[in-house]
Amino acid sequence: MAIMKADKLGVSVAKAPSMMTGAVPKNDWWDVPANFKPGNYAYPAKQEIVEYHKFPNPRLWDPESDDWKLPENWKEIILQGLKERLDKFRSLKIFMDCCVRCGACADKCHFFLGTGDPKNMPVLRAELLRSVYRNDFTLAGKLLGKMAGGREMTFGVLKEWFMYFYQCTECRRCSVFCPYGIDTAEITMMGRELLHLVGVNINWILEPAANSNRTGNHMGLQPHTFKDNIEYLCDDIEEITGIRCNPTFNRKGAEVLFITPSADVFAEPGIYTAMGYLLLFEHIGLDYTFSTYASEGGNFGLFTNNEMMKKLNAKMYAEAKRLGVKWILGGECGHMWRVLHQYMDTMNGPADFLQVPKSPITGTVFENAASTKMVHISEFTADLIKHGKLKLDPKRNDHRIATYHDSCNPARAMGLLEEPRYVLKNVVNNFHEMPENTIRESTFCCGSGTGLNTDEIMELRMRAGLPRANAVKHVRDKHAVNMLSCVCAIDRATLTSLNNYWNPDVEVCGVSELVGNALVMEGEKERETGLRFEPLAGREC
Ligand code: SF4
Ligand code: SF4
Repeated sequence: MAIMKADKLGVSVAKAPSMMTGAVPKNDWWDVPANFKPGNYAYPAKQEIVEYHKFPNPRLWDPESDDWKLPENWKEIILQGLKERLDKFRSLKIFMDCCVRCGACADKCHFFLGTGDPKNMPVLRAELLRSVYRNDFTLAGKLLGKMAGGREMTFGVLKEWFMYFYQCTECRRCSVFCPYGIDTAEITMMGRELLHLVGVNINWILEPAANSNRTGNHMGLQPHTFKDNIEYLCDDIEEITGIRCNPTFNRKGAEVLFITPSADVFAEPGIYTAMGYLLLFEHIGLDYTFSTYASEGGNFGLFTNNEMMKKLNAKMYAEAKRLGVKWILGGECGHMWRVLHQYMDTMNGPADFLQVPKSPITGTVFENAASTKMVHISEFTADLIKHGKLKLDPKRNDHRIATYHDSCNPARAMGLLEEPRYVLKNVVNNFHEMPENTIRESTFCCGSGTGLNTDEIMELRMRAGLPRANAVKHVRDKHAVNMLSCVCAIDRATLTSLNNYWNPDVEVCGVSELVGNALVMEGEKERETGLRFEPLAGREC
């Protein structure tokens, strides 16, 4: 969908009323209905995809209509689902009970900053579910109803849930500022789970999840295509460096299984990140294999429900077991690492059939991965650099003036803050941080995570990404930054769209691409270009 020009949208974000309601609301929040119109919602999941997952209520339906073709007893289904989740997840009950409405989270959400819609304040987003919880599951709510902040589950409430639980990227920025540590992302996850129970969901999540289930990756690509694509990347590497990388696939007995998001193998600019991995592994002679079945690190189950998340995560470990590797090395992904660090152990772990990861090059034992047996490529690379195992020429990145976007999941869900920076500072000569309140734990989301990277909501995405884009603009204007690096495949896709819109002269890359550019390979030819065939500094044609 075409959207207005960036300068007009910028003024609209600053001065105009809410995108969703079309006016500054004059009523109590719960008297302002969710109004679906083109551009403010992602398309519902296709009937055949819902059927494939064996999820409830597959059908054709239209969010703009007043008939969502819900099951007759949909309210009972939702309330029963909520009860089960309150019994199962203690965190949910705590999050429902302990908000003191201090408002510290209110202006921390990029969706609120970009849309001006009060229901995008995290406290109010949570209140959409909390009000129903109060009404049906607390004594005060049962006795006093609205006076105690309770409200009945109605079709209007369901519409709000669909709108606002899909205007949250589960980025967890708000939780950093909440004095009680309330994690609105977890509330959104529960909200989405409940919506699934009555067949209310979006295609951009369920179709990649179905593909991943069926073929091992989001794109639905077959094993031979996955292998062929990596070999094409090896051809490009050979053309640029004169070095032939020889990765193996499904090789039993390899020491390490390497898993990365499929976007690194199939889509720009991720493919340049993958070329960086291939060069790195060749450089150090790593004994590793790809799997053409666990050909996806990303886990769209995180955006769907607990069972799906568990199933997609299990595939990686099943492959590690089948191939008999010692441990797993993971590429630059966001939600793969969130699932690994926050949920894997209680869902599928601990992975005791694997060994505690030990770098075969430096001897470092990654005790932090003692349970998951999986090491992040930035940790692995930083360790190699620290031990002087890489021959690097950062001048090869002198055409790049880089900054670093802390991807929400690696930063907030696993605390991966220093390692990518350490790597970057060793492979580029020009590096500048964005403002302090927009990086590290306080990083701003790309605005399109959790399955919202879909074109029909482009204006919403550009609005939600504005706080991040604004920080990029700051370093672009101040330091002439022209490269936004990150360690997440979704970010590489979404930040590219975001920068094309707000900062068209800033490109996006993975940290490993810059590593690949800087690596001096034994026997290589003189490099004329970087990994994306761009001329190096001083080599402009
Ligand atoms: S910061 Fe925490 S306690 Fe305060 S309003 Fe937000 S969720 Fe509630
Ligand atoms: S998790 Fe992120 S997107 Fe969701 S409410 Fe909090 S800040 Fe907003």
